[in-house]
Amino acid sequence: MTEVTGTQFLAARNGEEATVARLMTGVSLMALAFLLGIGAKAWYADHQTHAYALWLFAGLVSVNLALYAWRRDHVLQRLGMLLVVGLLFAYLIASGGESNTGPLWFYVFPPLLFYLTDLKTGTALLLLCLLFAVIVFSFPALPFVSGEYSGDFKIRFFATITFESIFCFVLEASRLKARNELMALAVSHDQAARTDELTGLSNRRDMQQRLGAEYSRYQRSGHHFSVALVDLDLFKRINDDYGHDAGDAVLVQFARRVRSLIRQTDVAARWGGEEFLLLLPDTSLLQALTLAERLRADIEHTEFCFDGHRLPVTISVGVCSVTQADSVNQLLRLADINLYNAKESGRNRLAPRVRSRTTGGDAPDAPGN
Ligand code: GH3
Ligand code: MG
Ligand code: MG
Repeated sequence: MTEVTGTQFLAARNGEEATVARLMTGVSLMALAFLLGIGAKAWYADHQTHAYALWLFAGLVSVNLALYAWRRDHVLQRLGMLLVVGLLFAYLIASGGESNTGPLWFYVFPPLLFYLTDLKTGTALLLLCLLFAVIVFSFPALPFVSGEYSGDFKIRFFATITFESIFCFVLEASRLKARNELMALAVSHDQAARTDELTGLSNRRDMQQRLGAEYSRYQRSGHHFSVALVDLDLFKRINDDYGHDAGDAVLVQFARRVRSLIRQTDVAARWGGEEFLLLLPDTSLLQALTLAERLRADIEHTEFCFDGHRLPVTISVGVCSVTQADSVNQLLRLADINLYNAKESGRNRLAPRVRSRTTGGDAPDAPGN
């Protein structure tokens, strides 16, 4: 299940990254238009240096856009965007922009920062930028500072930007919390929808999906697999003689034994009632029969107890390899026929039943795929 969880988180994150990338492209195009337009206005207002600076930033935004179009690298796009915007705002605060209105653009920064980075990085970068603003406001004589701000403006600027930053932080933190809770809920729902409540094994729906996927893999790359349909023998008697709870306890203990015997790549599902299906990837018919025999013998010798009573539990198994069928349905039908044969020939056994060449016993042997 951890694999499912990881995959889901990954898919959701990829979806989010694509959304952020689209938004960034839109914002970049808008910024490009603004920079070119305001640059042109500055040019006609005889502020050539300012116009050149804004067009330089327009050039940087274009490079970032082109880089993303070429490489499709989300991380690079974000870093580029943060760098260009950070430099632009530093320039606007230091130079004052047109008529000392440059710092007004700073209000765009906090929401953008928190959106593009995580809370910690966003806070650190924001503090860094505010520190730069403090230096500019405190030391107007510095060579790179040409903006002139009144004391009132500085106080109001810091007060408002602080409020905005706190609101952005709180909103982003609650957005992330809600998102994570929603993701966890989706994952646990998905897990519940795929799991059998009593035994904790996969349920029929999950197994059907896995069978479909395994069959596609077989068709694509020839990786064969086998299935084993397992049915508890005379289970109704356990219910009748010892009660339904005893039956449930047997199902739970049986599932535990199955889990401990199969490989990690195998999948066990409760197919219905007291019937279980094992999906055995990369397993030939002979290997599947060997596993089924091991399971049959294990169950025969395992003590199933309930309320101080020892319960008689054995299983019958119908095994089939995908190489014997030309669809999942046919594979299941053949496994079911084999299970029926195992029941008919006396229960507590496998089908197809093969005799060992050396011992003449019941051990699976001759058939390959
Ligand atoms: P056979 O060897 O031919 O399979 O005989 P059987 O008694 O196992 O088969 P039958 O189909 O006659 O009965 C199956 C029983 O399994 C009947 C049903 O009440 C019981 N059963 C199905 N699901 C559950 C469950 O979740 N818990 C319990 N306790 N019993 C269940
Ligand atoms: Mg049964
Ligand atoms: Mg049955």
